[in-house]
Amino acid sequence: MMNIAENIEKVQARIARACESCGRDPSEVALLAVSKKKDVDTVREAVNAGQMLLGENRIQEVLVKQPELSSAVSWHLIGHLQSNKVKHAIHCRFACIHSVDSAKLMHALDKEAAEQGIVQNILLQVNVSGEGSKFGIAPEELIPLLEEAAGCMHISVEGLMTIPPVSEDPEKAGPYFRQLRELRDRAALETGFSLAFLSMGMSHDMEVAIREGATMVRVGTDIFGSRK
Ligand SMILES: *Cc1c(COP(=O)(O)O)cnc(C)c1O
Repeated sequence: MMNIAENIEKVQARIARACESCGRDPSEVALLAVSKKKDVDTVREAVNAGQMLLGENRIQEVLVKQPELSSAVSWHLIGHLQSNKVKHAIHCRFACIHSVDSAKLMHALDKEAAEQGIVQNILLQVNVSGEGSKFGIAPEELIPLLEEAAGCMHISVEGLMTIPPVSEDPEKAGPYFRQLRELRDRAALETGFSLAFLSMGMSHDMEVAIREGATMVRVGTDIFGSRK
């Protein structure tokens, strides 16, 4: 039997060590436990261990799990969002939607958030490498998108997210993480958005992401085990 509470402790210890080795305060790096494809009882173990930030990539799964788990859970959407799911997505009251990757989707979220009377926190997903992940805006699209976001009164852009190309060697992700941070720094300077959040790093490369400035790491496998 896998001990999820123990796995969370181990991941937290890795975060602390990674912070220590680059002189960051561990309180600057939040752990998002990615519970996709795991059943409610398994996810509940994490929540009972105090893990209140959960990441999912499908609206359908969130709708099933949300009513079964503590209302204190802070849900994050990290997977691609289709325009026809926007109403449900806003209804889920995500603490943050990490995967906004077009002006069209952003405007649809803004409209629906207005309809439901909330302000939705989002991150803009950037495809820094131009390969690998097929989702995400190109780096040069960021500033125009932020200029449009300034007119979206029911959207709050909190930062950026990226998924680097898959590689065995975690160090290979380093340059992509660094590019995301540098892009954020430039865009923040140019637009006045603070873009404080950098969602980057997964089970195998979280240490590298932390070294490059991640403020939230998204960890599935090393907490819940491998997925089918
Ligand atoms: C599944 C997923 C993760 C977690 O990946 P692991 O390698 O299992 O830690 C992180 N981010 C996104 C966007 C994902 O889809």
